[in-house]
This record gives sequence, structure tokens and C-alpha cells, in this order.
Amino acid sequence: YCGVCDREMPPRSHHCVLCKRCVLVREHHCFFLGTCIGGNNLKSFCQLLFFISSGCLLALILCLRYLNLVHLSLAFGFFIMELNVVVVGFVASTSFLAWHVFLICTGLTSYEFYTKKL
Ligand SMILES: [Zn+2]
Ligand SMILES: [Zn+2]
Repeated sequence: YCGVCDREMPPRSHHCVLCKRCVLVREHHCFFLGTCIGGNNLKSFCQLLFFISSGCLLALILCLRYLNLVHLSLAFGFFIMELNVVVVGFVASTSFLAWHVFLICTGLTSYEFYTKKL
């Protein structure tokens, strides 16, 4: 039962304060997408993460290829800055993706993982 919605809620659903509604198999609230990630959109969310991480990887490979060409030019400082952004983006999205793949494999949401309840 959800006290905020004042109605019965299905099992494994949790109330999101930000969405102001109960979300079925709630994973977490995504601030980038401005919505909750749950059982309904978890698959598409992981696909999005996959595209981001592979996109960053591609950009990283391109950066490293051009690194030899630009290392003496004036754009080097800017280039290093851009490279850092790509590396951070890649590491963040890949670890986030790996974390959710792990959770899907265990059949848990991160909420259930932390609270150890099912
Ligand atoms: Zn609710
Ligand atoms: Zn939410």
C-alpha cells in the first residue's frame, strides 16, 4: 500500500517522490531523462547506455588516432580537455551499464539490492 498515492500498489513497485507516482519494479530515478527507470523502460534504458558507452569508445579511439597528429599544434590543450570528457563519459556510462547488466542477471533492482528485500 502506498501512503502517498493513497491506493494499493502492485508488488515490487516503489513510490517516486520526483515523479509523484508509483513505479512498477522501480530501478531508480534518472535525472538525465527526468523519469523513473523501471520494469517498463529498463531495456530501452540499457540500450541507451550501450549506445552512449560505444559512442564514447568510438570517440576515444578517434581521439587517440589523431593524438599523434595534433600533439605539436596549438589545439593540443583543447584536445586534452576534450579527451578527458570522452574518457570520463566512457568510464561512467560503461560502469553504469555493467552495473545494470549485473542487476538484470541477478533479477534485482538496485533498490532491492541495497535493501536486500524482495
Ligand atoms: Zn505511490
Ligand atoms: Zn521518478
